[in-house]
Amino acid sequence: MDRIVYADNAATTSVSENVINAMMPCFTEYWGNPSSLYSGGRNAANIISGAREGIAGLLGCRPGEIYFTASGSEANNWALKGAARANQKKGRHIISQKTEHPAVLQALASLQKEGYEVTYLGVDRDGILTPGEVEAAIRPDTTLIAIMYANNEIGTIMPIKEIAAVAKAHKITMFTDAVQAIGSIPVNVTDLGVDMLSLSGHKIRAPKGIGLLYIKTGTRIQNLIDGGGQEKGKRGGTENTAYIAGLARAMEDAVEGIEDMERVKALRDRLAAEIIKIPHTRINGSMKYRLPGNLNVAFEGIEGESLVLLLDMAGISASTGSACSSASLEPSHVLLALGIPAEKAHGSLRLTLSRVNTEEDADYILEKLAPAVQRLREMSPLWNGLQ
Ligand SMILES: *Cc1c(COP(=O)(O)O)cnc(C)c1O
Repeated sequence: MDRIVYADNAATTSVSENVINAMMPCFTEYWGNPSSLYSGGRNAANIISGAREGIAGLLGCRPGEIYFTASGSEANNWALKGAARANQKKGRHIISQKTEHPAVLQALASLQKEGYEVTYLGVDRDGILTPGEVEAAIRPDTTLIAIMYANNEIGTIMPIKEIAAVAKAHKITMFTDAVQAIGSIPVNVTDLGVDMLSLSGHKIRAPKGIGLLYIKTGTRIQNLIDGGGQEKGKRGGTENTAYIAGLARAMEDAVEGIEDMERVKALRDRLAAEIIKIPHTRINGSMKYRLPGNLNVAFEGIEGESLVLLLDMAGISASTGSACSSASLEPSHVLLALGIPAEKAHGSLRLTLSRVNTEEDADYILEKLAPAVQRLREMSPLWNGLQ
């Protein structure tokens, strides 16, 4: 193995040194319970309020509208279940779409078991949905619209600002999962006009196990986790001071470094231009409305899982479809929603670059990828059938 290249930044990222440095004093010095009245508690509470203010500044909202959670998944569950239940007297219809993250789709499935109705809008061949399609699905009993900002598998960016305007015109609560967007494209809740927005720490170099939900003042939402009055009585559980400090630092660095995503985009475009020269290869999802670091390609005649394992032997970490679906060997629900047949969806590879990646990383991926695809095709009965 000549090199180690991590190209799976949509699955998770390493914790940065800045973030570790921001967290460390919370373990060694400021470990008090933020609810305690003595100085050890107050110091921890101050760290949390500083983090909340910093994050609110980055997202364009008030500090009191930021609620920390234990993950992006929790934030998604809270937004959907909390808002749906708080509005159930008004109506029990929710609009979402097919390429959402499992933390949205499964939360909606739970709500369906409780008697809510969900319309799952389809997307076009590029993975995009129009505001007009959302508007057409609105019914008198619709109370919630949930559309992700950027997709985790194919990196497609949805027209959230326009969809939020539709929601607002119909007085419907608008939620967006912005976990993949932050640090890659601008995320300003006021500019977007959404009522709720979720984020996760570990996609932007904070640890796993921290996330947040922005809840605009006045948004009707029930609690998901009841407890000891933390987060203004809306989310119980002693605050994770260290991870909250780490999330604030990670967000600051991610937003500050967003200009560097132009370089990442150029790297991604170079990879894309070379990779599509491999015969019988296509790119999944829009190249126009797409996160700068995301590339998702389908290679006919092979299994994505085998390709990921072969690349791993060469020191390259990549993924097939999404990290969640790769364990199940089910074809990706996102690729199927694009109308890609199951056998082609199976041969898909996701490469997700971050600011940590270099030109040399791209060179190395290009050096190893085509021979790996060729080797698998030579062994593949699928490929032989196609020839
Ligand atoms: C990773 C991810 C989540 C889940 O966040 P966790 O903190 O891992 O629970 C939700 N939505 C999207 C789009 C993601 O990429």
